[in-house]
Amino acid sequence: MNTPASTATVFDVERIRADFPLLARTVHGKPLVYFDNANTSQKPVSVIEAVASHYRLHNANVSRAVHQLGEEATTAYEGVRDKLAAFINAPSRNEVILTSGTTQATNLVAYSFVLPRLKAGDAILTTAMEHHANIVPWQLVAQRGGATVKAAPIDERGELIVERYLAMLTPEVKLACVTHVSNVLGTVNPVREIARECRKRGIPLLVDGSQAVPHRAVDVQALGCDFYAFTGHKMLAPTGTGVLWARREHLAAMPPFFGGGEMIREVRFDGTTFAEPPHKFEAGTPNIAGFIGMGAAIDYYQSLGIEAVHAWEQQLLAYATERLRDIPGLRIIGEAAEKEPVISFLLDGAQATDLATLLDLEGVAVRSGHHCAHPLMQFFGVPSTLRASLAFYNTREEIDAFVVALLKVRKLLM
Ligand code: PMP
Repeated sequence: MNTPASTATVFDVERIRADFPLLARTVHGKPLVYFDNANTSQKPVSVIEAVASHYRLHNANVSRAVHQLGEEATTAYEGVRDKLAAFINAPSRNEVILTSGTTQATNLVAYSFVLPRLKAGDAILTTAMEHHANIVPWQLVAQRGGATVKAAPIDERGELIVERYLAMLTPEVKLACVTHVSNVLGTVNPVREIARECRKRGIPLLVDGSQAVPHRAVDVQALGCDFYAFTGHKMLAPTGTGVLWARREHLAAMPPFFGGGEMIREVRFDGTTFAEPPHKFEAGTPNIAGFIGMGAAIDYYQSLGIEAVHAWEQQLLAYATERLRDIPGLRIIGEAAEKEPVISFLLDGAQATDLATLLDLEGVAVRSGHHCAHPLMQFFGVPSTLRASLAFYNTREEIDAFVVALLKVRKLLM
């Protein structure tokens, strides 16, 4: 595959790599090849510095102090909410709830939106390709409410069978869920189409955007869903940051989930009143420095241009897929027509974990295991896969080094 010269010059990956100090290190004496980006991304200097400079110069709690530092911290923190709203084209900053990650976001929807509406016989619809964060919270509230969790099937290529999903959108479904991009297969799901059909039936739709936001432009209004959840640490931001975007009317109707400071208007023993969204859902001191880092992460994406990121990553995905397909006995799990740069695979005669352990000795970081997607592993009849997940700061040379290492460690296991 040839890299078009125009893209190569616009997307200067070597310059970009210089912004990520960790990429320059060695592991077991070998240059690091970091292909575990779906697990968590590395952080650019601007994010690291934003966190450090918050602690060095501006540290104070938010929304509580009238002193200068408190104002600086609050302005910086609330400014990130504005950036996030613009980044996903939310109609209002008040629809952007800051959470500790996708997991907290889906649990918030489970307990605050779904549970109060559930009655015996109701259902929550998800799919067979979901991360546990988009399965287990629904099971927990379904058990309490006498409801069931249904999973729409996928096919052997790792694509959602959309007609089956739509056929399962029956009146007892109180929430439909789907991942925008699979963390195991890389499959991109047709969220717009699903959202359109959900709206026709009056069923709210939650989209897990954890693996989409790092790779593609996301516009929640264009998608047409009701809830969109994502996590910061996979998109260059610190751990413990995340977002739940939800339509204003849902947030207005949802009772608070966590109680405590920051989320109240007035507390009295004869009845407490609550703040308006988003603060109604943000009890306690948040991850202030983490979100300030997330603001810097958004700035970084915007300095590159998310379309340029996507284009480069698609080239890397095509190249890596082509190189892996050439290896005899290698089976790629997940061959959807539209994918983000995640490649799960198995190699005949070798355990995924053994391969990952040996690859680490070659400096290559990939993930092996079930990837928090047990039902998906059950569908493919495997206990685990090896997963190489790429980011825009990866290179074709790294893919070549990965393939060389894979062939070498395979020999050791034969
Ligand atoms: N959904 C998907 C698709 C994911 O890949 C992940 C992270 N592996 C999560 C949810 C959970 O994200 P977090 O642990 O940051 O809450």
